[in-house]
Amino acid sequence: MNNNIDSILKKSVKYLKGVGESRAVLYHNLGIFTVEDLITHFPRDYEDRSNLKKIAFLADGETCSFEGVIASAVSESRPRRGLSIYKVLIKDETGLIIATWFNQHYIKNVFSEGDAYVFYGKISRRFRSFEVQNPVYEKMDNGEMKNTCRIVPVYPATARLTQNVIRSTIRNALELVMGNLEDILSPRIRSRYLLSEINYSLQNIHFPRSEDDFRNARYRLVFEELLLLQLGLLNIKNSLEGSVKGIQFRPLEEMQGFMDSLPFKLTNAQTKVFKEIENGMESPKVMNRLVQGDVGSGKTIVAVLALLKAVKSGYQGTLMVPTEILAEQHFGSINGLLEGWGIRVALLTGSQTRKQKTEILENIKSGVIDVVIGTHALIEDDVKFDRLGLVITDEQHRFGVRQRAILSQKGENPDVLVMTATPIPRTLALILYGDLDISIIDELPPGRKPIETYEADAGMRERINRFIRKKVSEGRQVYIVCPLVEDSDTIDAKSAQDTADSIAKKDFCDLKVGLIHGKIKSKDKDSIMKAFVQGDIDILVSTTVIEVGVNVPNATVMVIENAERFGLAQLHQLRGRVGRGEHQSYCILYNEGKTEVSKERMKVMQKTNDGFVISEKDLELRGPGEFFGTRQHGIPDLKIANLYRDMEILKKAQEAAFEILKNDRLLEKDENTMLKNKVTERFKERTHELSMN
Ligand code: ADP
Ligand code: MG
Repeated sequence: MNNNIDSILKKSVKYLKGVGESRAVLYHNLGIFTVEDLITHFPRDYEDRSNLKKIAFLADGETCSFEGVIASAVSESRPRRGLSIYKVLIKDETGLIIATWFNQHYIKNVFSEGDAYVFYGKISRRFRSFEVQNPVYEKMDNGEMKNTCRIVPVYPATARLTQNVIRSTIRNALELVMGNLEDILSPRIRSRYLLSEINYSLQNIHFPRSEDDFRNARYRLVFEELLLLQLGLLNIKNSLEGSVKGIQFRPLEEMQGFMDSLPFKLTNAQTKVFKEIENGMESPKVMNRLVQGDVGSGKTIVAVLALLKAVKSGYQGTLMVPTEILAEQHFGSINGLLEGWGIRVALLTGSQTRKQKTEILENIKSGVIDVVIGTHALIEDDVKFDRLGLVITDEQHRFGVRQRAILSQKGENPDVLVMTATPIPRTLALILYGDLDISIIDELPPGRKPIETYEADAGMRERINRFIRKKVSEGRQVYIVCPLVEDSDTIDAKSAQDTADSIAKKDFCDLKVGLIHGKIKSKDKDSIMKAFVQGDIDILVSTTVIEVGVNVPNATVMVIENAERFGLAQLHQLRGRVGRGEHQSYCILYNEGKTEVSKERMKVMQKTNDGFVISEKDLELRGPGEFFGTRQHGIPDLKIANLYRDMEILKKAQEAAFEILKNDRLLEKDENTMLKNKVTERFKERTHELSMN
């Protein structure tokens, strides 16, 4: 029985009635390969065709269902070449309506006078008569109505697979399995959290008999998905923590002296967060802490303090960042701060020569180097530490959970700090990063003037160019960010290459224009960034390679070309490259977008500088699927749950996950076997490295 249902679920869609080889390919385009994929291809929407109206009560402009008898033969007219119109009259006891189809020649042979049908479509009123164009129709007989008289699912579709086809394929797939699906949620969990049974839930998520049935079905399926997510995350946490002890770092006497030597006083928020980190580091437990702080809130220095503490306690520390530019920059400033305290700092990136690398790797391994700052190069196999005690990742949203974990495994239960400027609403963060403690730097260093942000269009270019020129003449520097590296035939947007060429020749031929993007050799990138930092470049044209972390306080103007091509969080990050010093800063958004979403984004950017507000807006405008760009966070795609709207269910699911794991930490009991298999399947990629057992 069990085997039997499993083999049906794994069966290829091509064997289903009405599919076959060629349609199977279309389904593959939707990511559907098996019967199981089909029955979990959830509707993206529903049309309520369940309420039948009387013809006399139809209203102009509404889309609805009505029942009627065919009251005429089908008439055909050809007002011009290539256009045929078919009309038929429909009546009920209250009135008449005309149904019209265009160029659908088969209609002639569909209807016969006296037959009863149900129609569904958009009603229009012409003088005193009603018309419905291209309605869905279904004959009334004794069988179950499939496309009318009910709530009908609307699926994510693709060209050449119509809703009707998908609907009937899914119906067939459901028929094959209905009643035989085994529930991965035990009856105990179901009754405790009021969850409906799986067969019922799948049937009713696709073809709900009523709104209540739909709600029950959805609740259960969302709950299940979020429960799996929570179990997966908690499992990773358990396997990271294990039962082993972490490092107990020492209280550090020199800390105050070091702080006093800094060119600025820490903000209260920085002090508070560092205190939390100190406590975490001094405790015998392994620390796993997320530090959230808006762009420019001063996360780097907090990381430096933690590194100092780790090294002075006799350990090595490492800081991983997502780009070489940022690694270089952090290396420069952190080395400057720590060198004088007898700490040896090294840089490790992918583009160093073999010879340089070999030497650095030797010194990391032998322990000559105390602090390593680097890119993904740090997680390579050949990087071995002597006594790694503290692992920090900056701009965590650019890394997966897995990369963080690989780096940690290079030490013996080192403490872990992850820093991010993508402020996830706190409630969500608590749940999604269930495996982390959270510290928030919720204050900017004093004296920061809010960045002034303006939306612009091509017509304002000259004026803005004059403004740029004025700022440069005052001694400031400017970024111009473009979405593309080089011009493209397929994408109509500004490229960095082209923009740099043309402004260097024309508008700003007398200024020093630099160009930087991901395709430039990293040695050159390096010298370009250095030139910009030193003020040898007035205007730096760039792609988003400068998006994260880059810190040049003298740069005060950020111009973003084709701003409509960037998400809110990204715009906020880019804007965060200015406003880092004492001078008033500006952000100019060239918006070529016409959509409501892009207009709304520009508005949000102009209204607020607050990263938390922006991230909530982002979540709202984009929807969480995209927001959590699941790959970034290492979280599996969500098929039905919406993290934003289903927050309440998420909380319940988390509660259930805690309860399940409390009784059965590794999901070894029989009643949890199926759950465990599903979690493993969903978290395949992540559990690959982080064995659950
Ligand atoms: P982010 O949080 O975006 O990583 P950074 O750590 O790069 O921010 O800091 C941004 C700028 O603010 C840097 O120039 C840094 O030297 C400066 N800074 C950090 N903390 C303070 C402070 N307490 N007072 C004044 N300036 C500060
Ligand atoms: Mg930073």
